[in-house]
Amino acid sequence: MSHSPNLLSDPATIGGLVAEIERLSSRLGRPTSIMEVCGTHTHAIASAGLREMLPDSVRLISGPGCPVCVTPVGYLDRAIALAGLPDVVVCSFGDMLRVPSSTITMEEARAEGRSIEIVYSPRDAVEMARRQPDARIIFLSVGFETTAPTIAAALAEAEAECLPNFLILPGNKVMPPPMQALAADPELKVEGFLLPGHVSVITGWETFLFLAEEHSMGGTVVGFAPADVLRGIAELIAQLCEGRREIVNLYNRVVDASGNRTARALVDRFFEPATVVWRGFGPIEGSGLALKSEWAHRDASTIEVELPDPVEPAGCRCGDVLRGTILPPECPLFAQGCTPDSAVGACMVSSEGACAAWYRHDRFRIGAAG
Ligand code: SF4
Repeated sequence: MSHSPNLLSDPATIGGLVAEIERLSSRLGRPTSIMEVCGTHTHAIASAGLREMLPDSVRLISGPGCPVCVTPVGYLDRAIALAGLPDVVVCSFGDMLRVPSSTITMEEARAEGRSIEIVYSPRDAVEMARRQPDARIIFLSVGFETTAPTIAAALAEAEAECLPNFLILPGNKVMPPPMQALAADPELKVEGFLLPGHVSVITGWETFLFLAEEHSMGGTVVGFAPADVLRGIAELIAQLCEGRREIVNLYNRVVDASGNRTARALVDRFFEPATVVWRGFGPIEGSGLALKSEWAHRDASTIEVELPDPVEPAGCRCGDVLRGTILPPECPLFAQGCTPDSAVGACMVSSEGACAAWYRHDRFRIGAAG
């Protein structure tokens, strides 16, 4: 059943759903934890104050859903090194500039004179390549299934125009493999997933059936309004009460079973699965997108540069936050040296990062204990 968008934030609707969750939780008779694996959900949950509305027995935990946060430090080291080459301009979405590398941030590198520009889409970088034919324009290709089609479209545009100086630094990731890793982790205390709505538009909700079939875990595909998220939580607790473990699509106004085949075909033209490193997880098989060998002329990872040994910021526990083993306030640096204005780790940089979301919205409502 779909719901009118203006009902999705309606106080009476939200109050009714919270009451339903309280009733289900009391029927369950024990605490439970649910993980969201989409940065937009992390932001939506915190900004709407949903944690505070829920009974103490229902815990919401953030997973690896923020693309900036899961990008490993070595990727940033390479981007900064590339930006130091005389004929290179590195282009990036703005959030990446403030993420610490092993040495400095890209923002600091830019202040030191390295060629780093903020763009709002990969096509901006293609346009830059047109205007600066003597420079190599390297786009930092970071994001999940939702971003990859726009990057593939930019590559197709550059190919169609025979534009030789548009390159990317491949860093795209896909969600199912880390979710396999999380679901198989015996230490994970989570009993169900709020599944990523935007990613599901591309992949289709059936992509997540493995959670129920292989791991006996429930999942709900939900949108981003408060009522969307609360409906997903209610369904997951109802499943626990009734002994069901199913993948339920509650975002059927935009998500279907099989997703967007056209977008996936465009991505498949340029990319193939690769084993890549996720911050907090290490290498995960098939979790990244590498350029196919026929597009090696557009692959900036083949350019030789000198790199430092990758070093995560001292004391930062982003890896534990991204695996859901701690909540952001459990990091000793949270609000004690690490804030959005002076971020020590990646999870405090992006608005989709769990630490930034907690700092901005949940810190005073819920407190450090979570
Ligand atoms: S609070 Fe800062 S230092 Fe701690 S895990 Fe989050 S980003 Fe890292």
